[in-house]
Amino acid sequence: MIYLDYSANTPADPRVAEAFLRASLDFPGNPNSKHPAGQAAANALSESRKHIADMLSVLPEELIFTSGATESNNLALLGSVAARRHVGRHIISTALEHPSVSACLSHLQENGYEIDLLPILSNGRIDLEALSSLLRKDTCLVALSAVDSELGTVQPLAEAAERIRRFPDCHFHVDATQAVGKTPVDFSVADSVSFAPHKFYGLTGSGVLYKKKGIPLLPQLHGGESDSPYRSGTPALAEIKALERALELALTEQVSRNAAVRAHNAYLRTAFSKEKKVSINSPADAVPHILNLSIAGNRGSAVQTSLAAADICISVKSACSSDALPSRAVFAVSRSRKNALASFRVSLSHLTTREELDALLSALAPLLHI
Ligand code: PLP
Repeated sequence: MIYLDYSANTPADPRVAEAFLRASLDFPGNPNSKHPAGQAAANALSESRKHIADMLSVLPEELIFTSGATESNNLALLGSVAARRHVGRHIISTALEHPSVSACLSHLQENGYEIDLLPILSNGRIDLEALSSLLRKDTCLVALSAVDSELGTVQPLAEAAERIRRFPDCHFHVDATQAVGKTPVDFSVADSVSFAPHKFYGLTGSGVLYKKKGIPLLPQLHGGESDSPYRSGTPALAEIKALERALELALTEQVSRNAAVRAHNAYLRTAFSKEKKVSINSPADAVPHILNLSIAGNRGSAVQTSLAAADICISVKSACSSDALPSRAVFAVSRSRKNALASFRVSLSHLTTREELDALLSALAPLLHI
């Protein structure tokens, strides 16, 4: 099997799996328990929290451990607007967001919130002038992705933050799930940032929400005491140890991993740019891990099916979306419904080989030359 869907999920690094196993065996206690086994687990948790915070240049108490980026995004969006009812019910976001943000916003819209989506420029970036003009006194939340999951566009977060800061009551949330571990993210520009380690060779079922100290947030799970007042439940120590290791490896190996991925991306871009029927939808300066393409006359879902028959895995829109609708992100940059319906995503890793890319090109050849 040839796996080219690394932006949906990555295989766990064996060193991460080892960290998980070791912590699972070494710490039987619940970190919330006051006995020695509980305290040993609590100390181990506090060490990991500190190390993760140091790696992200944030404070330990600013980290909330969750079950994944979907939970982190839901907590950030629902928890921040609930804490800012006095500000208003106006929210700004984009058509590039993952369903864990966009579906949450639809839920808020059904409950009386007004949502404005920022225009996307042809380079995939948000229109900053439009952001300035849409911000209002009653804007309680702006939610942007650092890197979107379909095109891989890197958004100008610092410039956006500068505009949002003119409205001190507005919460600024960043979904950095496709960015952390792959490209630098400055957490300090946002009030909250979400991510999950299964995107960088960590384990699925674990996530993080960074929430800046002093920023109000109402918890969305009701339950007992935990290591954070914002999220109830027994802290998942072994998952957190695995997350710590995955982040450590991603950061120390970032330069070499990215060099390999950039070379793969350049190889595919060179090959596809010679093909008349292919549109490369990802902007030239997108992250190299994500390459969004369309082949004229072929629905993305048909391309996916035909590659699956050759045992090659690629994705159509986000793994969590339905394929019946055109991609909103690709439509935003190409303004073509046909192109958006034809789009599919190849996502790359340092584990990818040149042979795998050649196999992809051979499997696509019949669609390119009819
Ligand atoms: N946000 C983005 C940008 C994503 O790409 C994903 C997953 O694909 C998520 C959020 C949801 O992450 P999780 O599967 O950890 O809930």
